[in-house]
Amino acid sequence: MYREARWRAVFADEGLRGRWLAYARAWNERINALVSFSDAAGAGVAGADVAPAGPLAGVPCAVKDNIAVAGQPLSCGSALLGAHVAPFSATCVRRLQDAGAIVAGKTNLDEFGMGSDTQASVHGGCANPWDLELVPGGSSGGSAAAVAAGIVPFALGSDTGGSVRQPASFCGVFGLKPTYGAVSRFGLVSYASSLEVIGIIAESPELCGQVLGVIAGLDERDQSTVAGSPDRDAVQTIGVPRACRRELRDPQVRAALDAAVGQLAGLGYRMVDVDLTTLRYAAAAYYVISCAEASANLARFDGVRYGVRAAAESADEAIIASRSAGFGEEVKLRVLAGTYVLRSGFHDRYYLRAQRVRTALRDELAALFDRVDLLLMPVYPVPPFARGSARLDPFEQKVADRYTTVANLAGAPALSFPTPQPRVPIGMQLIGPNFGERLILDVAARYAAEHPPARPPGYAEDWR
Ligand code: GLN
Repeated sequence: MYREARWRAVFADEGLRGRWLAYARAWNERINALVSFSDAAGAGVAGADVAPAGPLAGVPCAVKDNIAVAGQPLSCGSALLGAHVAPFSATCVRRLQDAGAIVAGKTNLDEFGMGSDTQASVHGGCANPWDLELVPGGSSGGSAAAVAAGIVPFALGSDTGGSVRQPASFCGVFGLKPTYGAVSRFGLVSYASSLEVIGIIAESPELCGQVLGVIAGLDERDQSTVAGSPDRDAVQTIGVPRACRRELRDPQVRAALDAAVGQLAGLGYRMVDVDLTTLRYAAAAYYVISCAEASANLARFDGVRYGVRAAAESADEAIIASRSAGFGEEVKLRVLAGTYVLRSGFHDRYYLRAQRVRTALRDELAALFDRVDLLLMPVYPVPPFARGSARLDPFEQKVADRYTTVANLAGAPALSFPTPQPRVPIGMQLIGPNFGERLILDVAARYAAEHPPARPPGYAEDWR
């Protein structure tokens, strides 16, 4: 459970704040979750520029380092951005600060949000607080690790193809990907604009809901923001795609899914098997569309306007040299792949085809939500994997995004929640109809009350 009063007390008291900071720094030396601490983290409520009476007054949070916080570094995990400092704050950060929250620091990520393990970062890899030899997931791995370690009760991430839910699943915390457009993207460094949304990683579903209430809503700076409400008010039936149960090969994830089906049935929900035939095309469509959008979005990083500019004879050479030196391998791969699928002649074969898959998937999901209220699916086909050379290779990681990318292609809200596990965390996800966040969070809150999430070794419940 989220204990708001605990955090309030900490940040109002200098002695407690000092001990919190020591706890945070000690954890961070082991896991490398935060890539910078803010001045506000040291100064607390008194010294910070926050509203002391808001609903989140004195509650610290962390922000993924691809979301702008005025005056703080904005690296996107990339060498190209160097020591770039954000000149303004993202809308959701401003709203959090208006509600009294304190941004304690920026969190580690895969460069520009491209990845699933938070190892491809200019700041070095991030570790999973449950086992330092394991990845925390990604790309919002730093946000998930910071919450799991108890450094902050919640953190912001971005979810383009699963980057909030998958690390939440790997770290044993809750990760909410809101409906597309429910939260302003102003101040988020774009990777694939039509798929991504700022999401919330938190220690409880209640806190996810509270933070969503603060950051969601229309924003004149982001014309894609929409306000809406769900088309139903209660959850009775939850569908489980047959394909998930059929194809899951990992025994732990399989057991976790089967157990979750039984546990949700135990809470009174009617669990039914459903077909989701477009599932098998989701990851492929996602990678075509996201790479295409990335190739356009990342064109702005030319070494002229932001970050590090390489020395060269001409402007063209400077841009080539800056991008060659500044971007990592995965980013280069995606920019090239995106350019390839958009080339004339290839456009129909790849890009348009992927868009048709996207439409089919969206239609199939809409039809399913006529029959069921939510869907239950795995988040990732394998448990948290090892860091270093034994990790899943980049291609295996992409194929493994098939369960998370469904919600991004459809724009639907989805939540990763921890299931009871003997060893390492494994999360499952609930996907809902548009603007169905409350429905999902209510089910998760009931589930968590019955099956409370565990904490990693070294997590201090009360470190005072
Ligand atoms: N793993 C996915 C990818 O590598 C998700 C990224 C994201 O959601 N930012 O693209």
